[in-house]
Amino acid sequence: MTGSASTSGRSYDAIIVGAGHNGLTAAFYLARAGLSTVALERRPFVGGCCVTEEFAPGYRASTGAYVLSMLREAIWQDMRLAQRGLTVSPAGPTLNLFPDGGRFLLSEDLDETEREVARFSKKDARRFRDFEQHLADMAAIIMPMFDWTPPTGSGGIGELPTAMRMGRKALGGRRDLLDLMFLFSTSATQYLDGWFESDHLKATMGWHAINDSTSGPSTPGTAYVLLHDHAGEASDGVRSWGFVHGGMGEVTRHMSDAAREAGAEVRIGAEVAQVLTGGGRVTGVRLANGEELTAPVVLSNADPKRTFRRLVAEEDVPEHYRAAIEAYRCIGTSIKINLAVSELPEATGADPASGYQLGIMEVSSTLADMDRAQALALQGIPAEGAHIEMCIPTLHDPTLAPDGRHIVTIDVNSQPYNLAEGEGAWDDIREGVADRAIEHLGGYFPNLPGSILHRQVLSPLDLERLLGITGGHALHGDMGSDQLFSMRPVPGHGDYRTPVEGLYLCGAGTHPGGGVTGANGRNCAHEVLRDVKREQRSVGVRRLRGQVSSRLSRLR
Ligand SMILES: Cc1cc2nc3c(=O)[nH]c(=O)nc-3n(C[C@H](O)[C@H](O)[C@H](O)COP(=O)(O)OP(=O)(O)OC[C@H]3O[C@@H](n4cnc5c(N)ncnc54)[C@H](O)[C@@H]3O)c2cc1C
Repeated sequence: MTGSASTSGRSYDAIIVGAGHNGLTAAFYLARAGLSTVALERRPFVGGCCVTEEFAPGYRASTGAYVLSMLREAIWQDMRLAQRGLTVSPAGPTLNLFPDGGRFLLSEDLDETEREVARFSKKDARRFRDFEQHLADMAAIIMPMFDWTPPTGSGGIGELPTAMRMGRKALGGRRDLLDLMFLFSTSATQYLDGWFESDHLKATMGWHAINDSTSGPSTPGTAYVLLHDHAGEASDGVRSWGFVHGGMGEVTRHMSDAAREAGAEVRIGAEVAQVLTGGGRVTGVRLANGEELTAPVVLSNADPKRTFRRLVAEEDVPEHYRAAIEAYRCIGTSIKINLAVSELPEATGADPASGYQLGIMEVSSTLADMDRAQALALQGIPAEGAHIEMCIPTLHDPTLAPDGRHIVTIDVNSQPYNLAEGEGAWDDIREGVADRAIEHLGGYFPNLPGSILHRQVLSPLDLERLLGITGGHALHGDMGSDQLFSMRPVPGHGDYRTPVEGLYLCGAGTHPGGGVTGANGRNCAHEVLRDVKREQRSVGVRRLRGQVSSRLSRLR
């Protein structure tokens, strides 16, 4: 037992630790179902990794997530996000730039993209449409599962419906099942080798495999991430990546309003120091200021490692579970740079009329180079010349910067949270690493380095400190196939419950993983409500039994 909850503190049906987008989503659904609910956020504003912050006077950027695509349609509708004013403009094409001067523009227009592919390989161009269709078919099987609670493998009767639905989906065609099994077990490299010959095309399609991961694209289990680009849903269910007007903080601002209107309390500047237990179950939380709040149910929006390392007492958690959480891979490998610039970056040789500046720009290399960069990162060495993603949100929303100025958002991969001995400490090397990344970008966007007015550099350590994410991991843990579905975060605990009775996980470290989907929070809230109803039924049955037996004894 970690200490008994004070009876003087306020009492709730449910407490949520953290008001990231998943915590807010859970708060909304629990409050809407009639539970008295409070979400407690450590920072002075809600949002977690889905926020807009001023990083230089007059310049605002999305500190964490910067493009929206996977937010579940049901959440858009239930929280009435569009009616509240949430506006998303679709990103333009993706421009991929290569060290050999190769350029590859990937757009939503398949005919155009096919012509681009043909510049590198006629054979690949003939297969491209089939490949896209194939991934779309796989995504159509997987995406509905985002809204399901994975079975734990306990064999309980409650798991039967999900198991049957999954079986029906995957067995729709035996071929689909085999393709899915292959996609989940093979590497991105092997998968793409089976389709294409052009290294440029394979790198364009496969770089997602290294996004916030310690794996390289040739690591088995990384092919699944290729579905990522096909998994998006915009507000009307149309697949696309988009920029949110006002930055990503607008998503969580509207979510917070929706949760409050549904009856939830949302408190900011309220850091939880400890989850309290008593009698073998959760009893509430203690805040960093000593205040105690009671509730029979606590949901943690913090990542699994942070939850169990910092908030729950060691003696409250079975050793095997704690060990599995420790083994869970959650080592961030990206640095984020926000720039305030005086002019638009222009890529050498790219035609601005193609709209490439509206979209995402990838400074890429081959999959083999990405493997080498990731191998360095795994050894604790920040890789130079690594893959970089860049975008210009002010082209979609000029209000994010003063008139005529722009913000540029940059994500540099293969930059490990854990540095090897001799590499120094992030606080000492951060600016130097950023200088080299910008110099690298300058090789592709020659006017960029000279146009910088201000910059914000966030190493994985800074992301951890600022956003409260262990290892600075953007997704609350690697998305390899061994850490997904029923195995996220720990095999057999994919159903949001933890071994501590009454304690649930609702953040990105649960199914279906990271990204601004809201699915984790929504699914978790459904499981909490199922347990509450079950508890109410068993209390009702116990009360009924008590009444019957007291009547019988009176009759006797
Ligand atoms: C740099 C970066 C770029 C990204 N880019 C994209 C992108 O473009 N598109 C996309 O879809 N996703 C992106 N992601 C991933 C996405 O943002 C996250 O996976 C998602 O937002 C996680 O949401 P969450 O609600 O589960 O957790 P979080 O957003 O991490 O929220 C958890 C909340 O809990 C709070 N908290 C933690 N501990 C405590 C405590 N003890 N007491 C009180 N509060 C606490 C935290 O402050 C935080 O507000 C990116 C992430 C990062 C970091």
